[in-house]
Amino acid sequence: MTDFLNIVILTGAGLPAESGLATFRDKDGIWAKYDYREVATPEGFRANPQLVHDFYNQRRRGLKEVAPNAAHTALARLEREHKGSVTVITQSIDPLHEAAGSRNLIHMHGELFKALCALCGARHAWTGDLGLETPCPVCAHKGGMRPDVVWFGEVPYAMERIHEHLIGADLFLSIGTSGNVYPAAGFVAVARENSAHTVELNLEPSDGAGLFHEAVHDPATKIVPAYVEHLMAAF
Ligand SMILES: [Zn+2]
Repeated sequence: MTDFLNIVILTGAGLPAESGLATFRDKDGIWAKYDYREVATPEGFRANPQLVHDFYNQRRRGLKEVAPNAAHTALARLEREHKGSVTVITQSIDPLHEAAGSRNLIHMHGELFKALCALCGARHAWTGDLGLETPCPVCAHKGGMRPDVVWFGEVPYAMERIHEHLIGADLFLSIGTSGNVYPAAGFVAVARENSAHTVELNLEPSDGAGLFHEAVHDPATKIVPAYVEHLMAAF
């Protein structure tokens, strides 16, 4: 255990789900109620930007009612107390990891609490609503503001930096993620090829379950604090 200097953690919808946040891909999730092509693609935004703004405004408002859970808190503690490096790569667009105290964090699918101006490329911290009349705080133009989230058909953020973390990982944890959404689903293979010990902590075996050296299947709020405790005791 003591040689796990660099720990890289991939997280997905299973974590915020246990804070009560609706998931996107579950069978009763958000994509069962909305057509992702209308609200989460560049084409959908061009066709009906107000619909897309309304959709994300609703998601952003919903964040005010949720708090980090025991799994988020345990990962923040690991980052604080581990003598090596701990990097969290999340597919979630909510701010629950940072609310729990994680600092070394990559939001590969963007963030609900950020806005991006498509006209000048500036990014802004954003907790209120967005609309067609919202001016960009940098270039002052209206009509270019969009949620800073990665839509279907767009390339996830920070892929080069993520790759560097994966190839340098001694321990790779995959938490609360189904393993069927690429490129994230491929991270375990990259980490494993580069000698990382790989562990899955998920509600049920993921699609890539065979690629993990160890797996624990139960709710994240139960198994993540226990796993972190086990790691900290071994250091
Ligand atoms: Zn701008």
